[in-house]
Amino acid sequence: MSTPPDLPHQVFRQAVEQSALAISITDTKAKILYANPAFERVTGYSQVGVVGHNESILSYQVTPKLVYQTLWAQLKRQRAWNGLLVNRRRDGSRYLADLTITPVVDAEGHTSHYLGMHRDVTEVHRLERQVQNQKAMIESVVDAAQVALCLLDEDDRVVLDNQEYKKLIGDLGREPAATLLSLLREQMGAAFDLARARRQPIHHRELRLERPGGVPRWFACAVSWFEEQDISAEAFYEPVRRHYLLLTAQDISEIKHQQEAIRLNSLSALLAEQERIQGLRETLAGAVYQLEGPLNTLSAAVRLLERRHDGNGEKTIDAAMDSALRDSRAALDTLRACMPNQTAEAIQPLNLNEVLRDVLKMSTPALLGAGVVVEWNPAPELPSVNGGATQLAALFRHLLANTIEALNERRTADHADERVIRLLTLPHPDHIEVILEDSGPGIPEEWRYKVFEPFFTTKGAERGHLGMGLTMAQETAARHGGLIDIDPAIRDGCRVRVQLPCAKGG
Ligand code: FAD
Repeated sequence: MSTPPDLPHQVFRQAVEQSALAISITDTKAKILYANPAFERVTGYSQVGVVGHNESILSYQVTPKLVYQTLWAQLKRQRAWNGLLVNRRRDGSRYLADLTITPVVDAEGHTSHYLGMHRDVTEVHRLERQVQNQKAMIESVVDAAQVALCLLDEDDRVVLDNQEYKKLIGDLGREPAATLLSLLREQMGAAFDLARARRQPIHHRELRLERPGGVPRWFACAVSWFEEQDISAEAFYEPVRRHYLLLTAQDISEIKHQQEAIRLNSLSALLAEQERIQGLRETLAGAVYQLEGPLNTLSAAVRLLERRHDGNGEKTIDAAMDSALRDSRAALDTLRACMPNQTAEAIQPLNLNEVLRDVLKMSTPALLGAGVVVEWNPAPELPSVNGGATQLAALFRHLLANTIEALNERRTADHADERVIRLLTLPHPDHIEVILEDSGPGIPEEWRYKVFEPFFTTKGAERGHLGMGLTMAQETAARHGGLIDIDPAIRDGCRVRVQLPCAKGG
């Protein structure tokens, strides 16, 4: 290669002299013939003093032999070599050299010299290692966390996750982040999109994850955002920011199930108390009802006697009859006064699916005992109704108990195989309909309305039935502005329909 005509020879020398890179020129045995000022600055060996020494003077002796063998093999093939070597300065301190050696080939094609150029990259290496160490440290901390954690890019792709998150993938069999975020969006509505647009953190949201045929799982989720500067070369002068979503999800199923069990237990206790009061009311109402008949007869007899005996001779009988009448009325009043009041309950917006789910859970032992299968079809979206949680639970529990009893009756009549109860909720524009269907003996057409009358029973008092259950259920429905009826279209079995008005704005 010749020197360009307009470029004097000394320019090459000056360029090498003034270069910021440590430059040395050696013979073919790596004996240094020339070193520039930057070489002196980097290595600590003086430009003049180093001449005549082998480049190995810089070797710290920890670089593997193989590296040198590769280096020399490349040079022998007249190819440039580039790599990292651990060098020792004149003062004994070490540095990492990023070295490039290029063979200088003469006109005959022989290697006459080697040109070595290197720079101290200790600091760059230190920073790289520091980043790697921090990354490894963060990953191990993230992995050790007892919370599932994942980082999503702007296209909702998972770019980082931890062991707990991986476990969730195994458990749920799908991408947990997508599922949890869609539940979060469902729960928060427009607020989620607003938080996302403004990159505002979302704190502690409890999400319920239904699992077909399994126990639902609960997660406490939080979302935060962070921004990353694009590290690509093209973004060097025009920084581009990338946004990431950090999702954390803590499994709180156990605590939720415990809370649920406690809630169900207290609901059961409330229901039991309500049923006890109801039973007492039924008994007393029955007694009052039974006494009212003879008392009315007695009162008619007294009026008759009063009209017949206007003389004084019969006064004793009249007085006795009057006294009997007064005592009987007093006894009736006492009985009525003994009747316990219906317990007052707060009226609140309720989701009937949840009320029915609770009732089914509480009735599980009875259903299992009767070998009954429940086909439960809750409407996916159900507006709320305003009501008393315990009263409505008692209503549906009574209706469910009736259907179980009906199925047990049918069993004795050789229908042991048909043991299915269908329960579903249907939203209508202004009311919610709950349908409870069984394949029991059904209710004859002529009894369709009578079954709701007080003390009407198809089973007989000797079997513990006073015939007040459906009356009370109808009363509860009416108190809630709704009604219960029996679908006349069903011939085989019974279909009870409960209609309750939707809560305003629910
Ligand atoms: P050595 O005994 O010198 O050699 C180790 C192995 O290298 C041997 O087994 C042999 O196979 C091979 N080898 C050595 N010399 C030759 C040769 N002349 N021909 C063929 N194979 C050979 N080393 C550094 O540690 N730091 C530097 O900054 C550095 N800069 C260099 C710059 C130039 C321009 C050149 C040509 C070499 C440079 N070297 C540098 C390499 C250096 O010359 C030594 O090879 C190296 O330092 C190993 O030295 P050593 O005494 O441990 O082993």
